[in-house]
Amino acid sequence: MPEFGPITCAGCGLLCDDVLVDAADDAVRLTPDCDLGAQWFSERLLRPAGAPSATIDGKPVDVGSALTRAAELLRGARRPLLHGFEHATVEDARAAVALADRLGAVIATDDGEWAGAPAVPLRGASTATLGEIRDRARVVVIWREDPESTHPRLLERLGIGGGVERTLVVVDDSDTATAGRAEVRLGWPPGRDLEALTTLHALQRGLTVRAGELELPLSGLLKRLRAVPHVAFVYGAGLTAGAGGQRRALALHELVRALCHERHAVTLELPGAPGTRSADDVLAWQSGYGGNVDFASGHPELVTATQPLDDVDVTLLVEPGSAGAAEIALGSLAAGPGVEVWIRTAAAGVDGGGTAHRLDGVPLALQAPLPGEAPSAAAVLTRLLAEVER
Ligand code: SF4
Repeated sequence: MPEFGPITCAGCGLLCDDVLVDAADDAVRLTPDCDLGAQWFSERLLRPAGAPSATIDGKPVDVGSALTRAAELLRGARRPLLHGFEHATVEDARAAVALADRLGAVIATDDGEWAGAPAVPLRGASTATLGEIRDRARVVVIWREDPESTHPRLLERLGIGGGVERTLVVVDDSDTATAGRAEVRLGWPPGRDLEALTTLHALQRGLTVRAGELELPLSGLLKRLRAVPHVAFVYGAGLTAGAGGQRRALALHELVRALCHERHAVTLELPGAPGTRSADDVLAWQSGYGGNVDFASGHPELVTATQPLDDVDVTLLVEPGSAGAAEIALGSLAAGPGVEVWIRTAAAGVDGGGTAHRLDGVPLALQAPLPGEAPSAAAVLTRLLAEVER
């Protein structure tokens, strides 16, 4: 295996575009060093040779036969669902939206517990690029996330520990690697996050509140936030997943809005997977909504259910991060058990190219340092749409 780079790594939503890959032997190493990125490349570079291009019920078939069967399943579906997108590109998501529109399907970019009406489409958000946060924020609050594990170079990219006077505050009651780097640690059970955020908001507005043992740490945090001209909040599924998650996200955005009266305050959301931001952005510009969208009525509608739709009868997984149960799967990694039709696709960033949106929305090119014969998911979805319309 060769050495190549610098290229863009799609191992997490940071999409570092300065990565050198050394795959000279059975182990993959990255420069700058990143274990998560090395694992991502090795899963795709060291795939077993001779994998079929497509399977039906686990048996190798040609791609044309697989597309025909997939189109049959989708044409016969009452309530199809397109989901996954953990490693999708912008081009993949655009092709998926076109197919979902034609099928009247639900398209979902969030495969976790559905958290209800999403906060950002409802009220908007104050955001910034990584570079803007690095250059301006003097207090960075990481709320119940552990980017040292999930986005290993985030603190470096935000300039934390880079010589500029900047306070890292971590809100988390778990002992994480990120919490270990914090100058200030605050901890309470996750069930009190909504109370903490609304209390901070009330304190910022000068209201009298009784928050018990939270009052002292929250007053201290507010004092730090008020002492600097630029602050940033980093958050993700630790705050927004599960019941009431989007209410907590809304409370964070309302707090940031209130802080913005006197200083520059922004949020940075850590997506659960590298392709999620690209798929959300494509959905937003093509349908008007990010997240989960239903095309069943003939026009796009935002899905605000807290439970996945229980009448879904055919699911199509697009570039999933791991093998999941579905009738049809299009992915660069092997299909999971129970998948009826699987079509192998190129891994964007290794044997296929494309465009991806970094977690702060900046578009970046994914190169194909080792181009192969597998088609992109976008190409397969476009062929599938033609097959459905035949
Ligand atoms: S931080 Fe993420 S994008 Fe950057 S090298 Fe590591 S895995 Fe790749």
